[in-house]
Amino acid sequence: MTHKFTISLKNRLTLTYVLFISLAMLVLCIVINLFTNIIFAALVKNNIAAKSREIIRIVEEQYNPLTGGFNTETIETMGMYFVSEGFIVTVEDRQGNRVWNARSCDFHHCTSVINEITARMESRFLATGSMRLDTYPVIFKNSNVGTVFVETYGPFFYSKTEARFLSAINSLLLIAGIALTVICVIISTALSRTIAKPIIAAGEAAKKIAGNYLIRIPDHYKTRELAELSRSINALAGELEEAERRKKQLTSDIAHELRTPLTCLQGNIEAMIDGVYAPDRERLESCHEEIKRLANLVQDLDILTNLEWEIITLNKTEFDLAKLLQVTAEQWRMTAAGKGIAIQLNAKETIITADYDRLKQVFINILSNAVKYTDKGGITVTIETADEKPGRQCLVSIADTGIGIPDGDLPHIFERFYRSDKSRSRSTGGAGIGLTIAAAIVHAHGGNIEVKSGKSGTVFTVAL
Ligand code: ADP
Repeated sequence: MTHKFTISLKNRLTLTYVLFISLAMLVLCIVINLFTNIIFAALVKNNIAAKSREIIRIVEEQYNPLTGGFNTETIETMGMYFVSEGFIVTVEDRQGNRVWNARSCDFHHCTSVINEITARMESRFLATGSMRLDTYPVIFKNSNVGTVFVETYGPFFYSKTEARFLSAINSLLLIAGIALTVICVIISTALSRTIAKPIIAAGEAAKKIAGNYLIRIPDHYKTRELAELSRSINALAGELEEAERRKKQLTSDIAHELRTPLTCLQGNIEAMIDGVYAPDRERLESCHEEIKRLANLVQDLDILTNLEWEIITLNKTEFDLAKLLQVTAEQWRMTAAGKGIAIQLNAKETIITADYDRLKQVFINILSNAVKYTDKGGITVTIETADEKPGRQCLVSIADTGIGIPDGDLPHIFERFYRSDKSRSRSTGGAGIGLTIAAAIVHAHGGNIEVKSGKSGTVFTVAL
């Protein structure tokens, strides 16, 4: 036995939801993170440019036009402040003489600030930058009075506060992403369970139905597909229940039908063996009659099974329906005449394509019943064709003036072994299968058979 790997619906739904949500969360976090970083980097770059402009402005303010020199005291205060901010400033005068340089002022501090920034950028922000030097002219009344060199970590760098802020945003995003994913997993699990629960229940109920066709699935589902599923399963269970009932009925009917002639045969043969009856011609003929009845019944059942299971393929030919009815009527004319009833045929030539032998069986069965159950009056067989009855190809009606079929029995007479009056049929020798065969043959032709009956007689109509 091959064992196929299966996964429960609930797990599959949960897995799908979780995968989908996690992926969505991941993409969302990455996009938000990317945008935050890009926008923040742009802001920081602006900030660095603004600070550089501030440095130049301060240096320009420290120019003394009278001496042509700079106020180095203020430049030093400003310069050392900017070193802490990550800006290594060097100021030169018009002749290129160094006025002030952060490194010469406090080399150690400068190195430690640069190292700190480099380490922060490389370890926390995976930057691969290096130190860059920007040169700005110092302008006084439209003339160049010196140069400012600003050395920073490039292309840009985050200050301690900015780095902390960015890290906080990233951590927040991560936490929010994880929290949302966890919430979504919980919701997904609950949702999957809600969706899977009725399906699992339907599956369980269907399993139970397999053992007991009377069980039904509750069909109170709000989801349309589930309501339809439960309705379909219930309909299937109903059909199975009906099939089971028919099967039991059929078995008991067949057993009943076989038992009567078999008991009769057994009694006769045992009596002959014991010497109670002489095995004379009359006895043997009676036994032969019963055996014939049995053989007919088995044959009829065989035909019926084949027709119902569509094992029989119809051997369709073109022939005149009127002729077929005439031949069939002829077979029964003598028996009918013996009972004092006439068979009248109203049929003009009607060419149809059908299985001749099986259709003949249909009319033999109907006509034999008509003769069987009619004691006075007559039987009329009529063909009505399409030109007389639009919409139908061809209608054959067999009307008798017999005892009729009680209203309560009418819906059942095409069922197997159904006889409207068991005692009556026993005397007429029927097993209640003739009309079932007739209906099966007509249906196999795509036609229909109907019956109308009253006290004044019965009319069978075969539509082909
Ligand atoms: P059977 O072999 O018993 O006649 P059928 O299937 O041919 O079985 O018919 C089923 C039952 O329908 C019969 O037992 C009979 O009670 C009733 N029936 C059929 N045809 C007629 C008819 N023309 N007039 C009265 N009853 C009929």
